[in-house]
Amino acid sequence: MNDELYARLRAYVRGETLRDEPMARHTSLKVGGAADFFVIPADRDDLAALLALLAETGTPYLVVGGGYNLLVRDGGIRGVVISLARLDEMTLLAGEKVMAGAGVTNRQLVQLLRDRGLGGLEFLCGIPGTVGGALAMNAGAHGGAVVDRVEELLTIRDGEMLQTGRDGLDYGYRFLRLAPGEIIVGATFRLDPADPDQIGVRIAGYLEHRAASQKVGFPNAGSFFKNPEGTAAWRLIDEAGLRGERVGGAQVSEAHANFLINRGRATAADFLALATRIKEAVKQRTGIALEEEVRIVGEG
Ligand SMILES: Cc1cc2nc3c(=O)[nH]c(=O)nc-3n(C[C@H](O)[C@H](O)[C@H](O)COP(=O)(O)OP(=O)(O)OC[C@H]3O[C@@H](n4cnc5c(N)ncnc54)[C@H](O)[C@@H]3O)c2cc1C
Repeated sequence: MNDELYARLRAYVRGETLRDEPMARHTSLKVGGAADFFVIPADRDDLAALLALLAETGTPYLVVGGGYNLLVRDGGIRGVVISLARLDEMTLLAGEKVMAGAGVTNRQLVQLLRDRGLGGLEFLCGIPGTVGGALAMNAGAHGGAVVDRVEELLTIRDGEMLQTGRDGLDYGYRFLRLAPGEIIVGATFRLDPADPDQIGVRIAGYLEHRAASQKVGFPNAGSFFKNPEGTAAWRLIDEAGLRGERVGGAQVSEAHANFLINRGRATAADFLALATRIKEAVKQRTGIALEEEVRIVGEG
């Protein structure tokens, strides 16, 4: 079955198709088993051709960005992992707007906006990943969240290209509702005119703050848990006495208690066991149920 699918992927898709690709190579936690196939479509048409093939063959798929918020279980991922890294076009539009493809990195977008004197998304500067991943997570920092700047979201749902204005989106703290299988291909953002030097000062300030507060020094996925209403996850973990706690190669960072780090040779199972230990301890102590911000995918 997989041989046949492989042959058809190679025939249909102009971009790159990798087989039995270790997801540890594509996630910042550096753990996770192999994806049956890892496909990087060359452009939007190529993506459409790929999706048609996957629909026809009933093959499951998962879209990933930079893998900075992803924990892939050790059994890997059946079906196809799709990377939109090559949907990396950025187009400036009239009226302080920019259209960015899902594969543009946050850093590339922030740099362009700074150079063109367009403000409002500076907070993305230190958030690793892609525009697609930032939108899917409604990533944010320093009081800003990316979906607040969306004018129109471009997605593919059941083979149809959709354009949805922000008012039509259901979103909140680290959350954007997508239909099952819906893929973000890009978005148009509305910015504010601003002085490039002042944008640069804001960016430098954000990066400095991050460098001081997130000196974790090992592979990680940023905040592992969402902040519960009215409090910070790191504080709850710290107060439960779990700073430095370790399961196998996974550890609660000494520098930031909501960052779980890979001390080397960690497995996804180590991270999952550590996360369970944290959730149980915090629940027992405070009654608060911590919820993962990191997306957990794949087979155990
Ligand atoms: C050091 C560090 C600091 C961080 N700081 C922050 C921070 O301050 N604020 C913050 O919000 N996050 C932070 N993060 C987490 C992470 O950077 C963000 O969640 C980021 O937006 C993930 O983007 P990505 O491209 O890597 O997405 P991925 O991790 O690859 O994917 C995340 C989720 O989005 C889905 N997805 C990705 N692309 C698409 C698409 N095109 N269509 C549909 N679904 C898609 C994936 O299936 C997955 O469920 C940090 C991470 C690290 C490692």
